[in-house]
Amino acid sequence: MDIGLKGKWALVCGASKGLGYACAAALAEEGAHLVMVSRTSGPLQESARRIAQETGVQAVPVAADISTPEGRAMALRACPQVDILITNAGGPKAGDFRELTPDDWQAALQANMLAPIELIKATVNDMIARKFGRIVNITSAAVKSPVDILCLSNGARAGLTGFAAGVARQLAPHNVTLNNLLPGKFDTDRLRANNAVRAERAGVPLEAETRRQADAIPAGRFGVPAEFGHACAFLCSAHAGYITGQNLLIDGGAYPGLL
Ligand code: NAP
Repeated sequence: MDIGLKGKWALVCGASKGLGYACAAALAEEGAHLVMVSRTSGPLQESARRIAQETGVQAVPVAADISTPEGRAMALRACPQVDILITNAGGPKAGDFRELTPDDWQAALQANMLAPIELIKATVNDMIARKFGRIVNITSAAVKSPVDILCLSNGARAGLTGFAAGVARQLAPHNVTLNNLLPGKFDTDRLRANNAVRAERAGVPLEAETRRQADAIPAGRFGVPAEFGHACAFLCSAHAGYITGQNLLIDGGAYPGLL
């Protein structure tokens, strides 16, 4: 099935590995060209090379910190036009809220709230003019079920979610959609690092903590990043033009609420 993405350009942030990489790979499978951003050049170059080789699309790596104005300018300069914007950055550090400083909060707000907002500001008018745009913010299941040790994430992402809800309705008349994808537990470096913190705090082996967490998910396992990437590609497709302003949980059934 052609989902209408051939020849579109996607700016994918946090794209060298994990969920961002999976989104980039899935978009490329559908024929979208990519600008891929992350801070560390080596792994990013390798990821972009692999995607270009496997799919035949252009994949331009930009080694930059998306939480800075300079990093965002580099990323935007590298993209001929942004038809699709996937905002993403590493999650903020975990920890007891008593130990967090104002600088920790500033860093979290820059990376996980203000960077997406600035990228949306910079790209949305051209999307409106072209009558096509797809914006997906990678946020977190913590938006619906805040996680005790992830105070910075809980706070910054709630702010982005409120912003997106207001803006999505302004963009809807122009075939520009804005949605948030909320990962539950996906098997990435980020999840492994968080599990290590939990295991240490609980004084249990990492393997036992990992098994305990997977068993608590109705699906009985962590998500595979490619599952997340393909959901993202669908939200960016021509077929998803009537889906906007949504917070879509992808969590193997972990969230127990009705809404
Ligand atoms: P990951 O495996 O650690 O990958 C993060 C990616 O973002 C890497 O490519 C990293 O590369 C890049 N990155 C980090 N900070 C950046 C910055 N300031 N500028 C540009 N690139 C940056 O993380 P993940 O598991 O894919 O998670 C992605 C997002 O989803 C995070 O915000 C995370 O908190 C959230 N999330 C993940 C899960 C999960 O289960 N995995 C669950 C809930 C929420 P560099 O370090 O080289 O920059």
